[in-house]
Amino acid sequence: METGMNYQDRGSLVGGSWIEGEGEELISRNPARKGDIVWRGRAVSPGQVESAVAAARRAFPEWSASGLESRIEILSRVEEVVEKRDEDLAKAITEEMGKPIRESRGEARSILGKLKASIEAQRRLPDTALPGAPGRSVWRPHGVMAVIGPSNYPIHLLNTHIAPALLAGNTVVVKPSPITSASGQIYAEIMQEVGLADGVFNLVVGGHEVGQAMVAHHDVHAVAFTGGWGAGRQIMQSCLEQPRKLLALEMGGKNIAVVLEDAHIPQTVHELVLGACLTTGQRCTATSRLIVHRKIADELIDRLSRAFQRIKPGDPFADDTLMGPLATLEARENFLSRIQDYEASGLKALVRSEAMEGGAFVTPSIHLVEDDGEQAQDYLNTEFFAPNLAVQIVDDAESAKAICAQSAFGLSMSVFSENQAVFEEFSREVPCGIFNWNRSTNNASGLLPFGGLGYSGNHRAAGSTSALYCSRPTAVLERDFGNFSPDPVYGPVLAELIE
Ligand code: NAD
Repeated sequence: METGMNYQDRGSLVGGSWIEGEGEELISRNPARKGDIVWRGRAVSPGQVESAVAAARRAFPEWSASGLESRIEILSRVEEVVEKRDEDLAKAITEEMGKPIRESRGEARSILGKLKASIEAQRRLPDTALPGAPGRSVWRPHGVMAVIGPSNYPIHLLNTHIAPALLAGNTVVVKPSPITSASGQIYAEIMQEVGLADGVFNLVVGGHEVGQAMVAHHDVHAVAFTGGWGAGRQIMQSCLEQPRKLLALEMGGKNIAVVLEDAHIPQTVHELVLGACLTTGQRCTATSRLIVHRKIADELIDRLSRAFQRIKPGDPFADDTLMGPLATLEARENFLSRIQDYEASGLKALVRSEAMEGGAFVTPSIHLVEDDGEQAQDYLNTEFFAPNLAVQIVDDAESAKAICAQSAFGLSMSVFSENQAVFEEFSREVPCGIFNWNRSTNNASGLLPFGGLGYSGNHRAAGSTSALYCSRPTAVLERDFGNFSPDPVYGPVLAELIE
């Protein structure tokens, strides 16, 4: 296994300068190496959050007035910088949160694809004035946007909001997950090298208190948040008295794969293993529920169980590793103890998750849900963010559809069947953001809308539709200077009043 790297704390990037954090100590640990420390630094203080927002606010008028083509020209310099730094970034991601290096390399390169897609989307913002409208419709940036990211895609899910936010003319204050601060700092170095004016892009490192201060700040007019429902809920609550603030919440998933009696079994097993186990089940789009038709349930569960039992998590720097560790040792302990509690109260294990030595490694598990009680509903509506599949057996597609429609989450789902018309029925009737036919739930695309409903999101889908929530539609009505032709309704009355 590659020896651990030590990353220097660069601090936070505020108004174009790196500042040393004055808040609590933060530590990143390598989850594949018994939690060895790879980075140690300090979070920003509340006063430093204030400075970052103030810097973004000062930079806003010039950046927003600079015009789209000028912003595209500046941001396009990112390509050259990423070519030099993508491997540094990929290694830091893997060291800090443990995903296989192949996935981290893809994540580092995704900065470029996202910029390209965001430029296209920004240029295609619709003209929303209807024929005959007495004016124009224009899209305006919000001002300062807060971008708060999760641990599983620590760079992609910052960049996915930052690119459209900056293109639209907003300035940003960005906070990475506290377990991936070093990766966040490398990303900020890349953005600094691009040559943005001071304060256009600001990075603050810190935990949830820093996030809370950003979200609650009255000069932050939009929040692009990616993380769990628990944090998303707190964000909504803290903004109740600030109706002006736009919240784009990309939250968790408990994504369902429905397997009907005519499914192609080898294809289905292949996609289910990918869906449940890639990134050690730590994708918002991971498959964590399976609803299978009784006629094929035994065969499917048997094949799937054999595959799950063969998967051994390993060194994320090795080329043949499918599954690395969970992101932290605490995440593993939390997952295993919660599953044990469910098992103690009757949940049936078909394949058990086992902890493995050397880091936050855990094997994937399958559990069978046989009743509809409170405990079962709780298990079915809890996101563990780990490789665990909850199985339910049904007698027909209608019952599967009814179960899907009850889910508290609604991010991504799959239907495995030869019959496309049945798949279409699911996509019409189940409240969910992403539908896959004979594909895993975790195959999403930034060239399409990406977002969910319920505990998964608040109708502000990212992906190809990010440009929509990074701007606000505005009406502009104009009249020639000096022209005040009589008002059609009150003209005669006004004529008597005004000489
Ligand atoms: P998390 O919710 O614990 O933290 C996410 C970020 O929010 C972190 O930066 C954290 O410091 C910050 N935060 C926490 N509480 C906050 C608060 N009250 N106010 C402001 N900021 C706060 O999530 P995580 O463990 O880092 O990531 C995993 C979660 O993210 C999972 O639920 C996963 O499904 C979700 N996720 C969603 C998407 C999506 O696009 N829908 C993508 C990836 C991950």
